[in-house]
Amino acid sequence: MARELSIGIAGAGIGGLAAAAMLAREGHRVTLFDQFAAAGPVGSGLMLQETGLAVLGAMGLRMQSEALGTPIARLHGISVDTGRAVLDVRYGALRPGLAGLGIQRAVLFDVLQAAAIAAGARLVPATRIVSADAGAGTLTDAEGGLHGSYDLIIDALGVRSPLSSAPKDELTYGALWATLPWPVSSTFDKSALEQRYEVARKMAGVMPSGRAAPGAPDSLTYFWSIRADQYDAFRAAPLIHWKDAAHRLWPETAVLLDQLAHHEQLTFARYRHRTHAVPVKDRLVHIGDAWHAASPQLGQGANMALLDAYGLAQSLKQEADVPAALRLFLKIRAGHVRLYQLMTWAFTPVYQSDGAMIPWLRDRLAAPLLRLWPAPPLLAGLVAGAFGAPLKRMGLKAER
Ligand SMILES: Cc1cc2nc3c(=O)[nH]c(=O)nc-3n(C[C@H](O)[C@H](O)[C@H](O)COP(=O)(O)OP(=O)(O)OC[C@H]3O[C@@H](n4cnc5c(N)ncnc54)[C@H](O)[C@@H]3O)c2cc1C
Repeated sequence: MARELSIGIAGAGIGGLAAAAMLAREGHRVTLFDQFAAAGPVGSGLMLQETGLAVLGAMGLRMQSEALGTPIARLHGISVDTGRAVLDVRYGALRPGLAGLGIQRAVLFDVLQAAAIAAGARLVPATRIVSADAGAGTLTDAEGGLHGSYDLIIDALGVRSPLSSAPKDELTYGALWATLPWPVSSTFDKSALEQRYEVARKMAGVMPSGRAAPGAPDSLTYFWSIRADQYDAFRAAPLIHWKDAAHRLWPETAVLLDQLAHHEQLTFARYRHRTHAVPVKDRLVHIGDAWHAASPQLGQGANMALLDAYGLAQSLKQEADVPAALRLFLKIRAGHVRLYQLMTWAFTPVYQSDGAMIPWLRDRLAAPLLRLWPAPPLLAGLVAGAFGAPLKRMGLKAER
């Protein structure tokens, strides 16, 4: 095991907080920087897969997270052009009892932040990191403050990390997101993430997303696909214009649209696709979205950040020095990262793009193919994050 290290983590998001909790528990001196005055997450819900849940299990946080989330057994998307299912994934096709977990981002953040602080990590808020010196092991903030020197710097600054030099591919589409109370009466399936598509230009989704606290009312997360270059026009027009279009695509969402009165209730997220070829330099390592950002089509990002954090903590536990630990980290994580970056990149135009050919094929071929063996277990394995056996590579086991 590496000696007691001083570790600077830039970014108190999902990956940074998980890494901080695990490394502080191992006795390392961990300092965590975030730009937020009171560190906090951007709204909306996200979906945890068995990969991310297994990491939370190893951290002793799975039961608590599951009590705050909603199990999702099925992903079900219908093309309104043909009325056919063009996405139908049942986790149980891979293993009985397997499911994803819909959870509010803020809730997961709170669980991880409490674990990091309880383990002794020091959180430094209101500090915007602008650069790092990988050789010296220092971080510089926007006020010119120098932090370190650290034995190890972890870049967990997310998709817009200024420490990451990888090319930033802005994707054409992003989405509007809102977390809303689960309606008293609705047709939505509480055990499924449901979507509706018109070609691949319009897409709306409803995802069960647990509750803010034990015993609090259930919530769902509604999302609407939007071209990034149309966001300003959306903001400039009366909200009713967008609500009319959303209602036409999926009339049953009227009960949700009625709860939206202001543009500000919808958070816009623009997607990027970027992968660092080698996410390690001297004493600096990139994890989570700072290493590999992608559109959330396969719902893997938070899970990948958790896997990275666990893989890094395990590597530092097993190897005597930092360079050897970082080599081991790359060995256990790089293959899975490359595989999912490629698959997410390939799947994105199927559900979010301006093209007509891919959605046309999707609408005609997907419905029959989705039912043919081995498609059901393969698709379940794909969305569960199981391709490339990421848990086995780190000595972790799926609990379900
Ligand atoms: C709308 C949307 C829906 C998603 N849905 C899913 C899903 O269903 N399932 C899933 O697994 N993933 C999903 N993702 C992806 C997932 O949220 C990310 O992959 C995950 O949060 C990455 O974790 P991270 O720790 O790398 O970065 P983040 O969680 O983004 O954390 C980065 C942190 O760094 C801080 N920061 C940024 N810049 C600076 C700076 N210069 N100085 C100081 N602090 C800074 C931020 O404040 C933040 O706290 C979704 C993403 C989006 C945008």
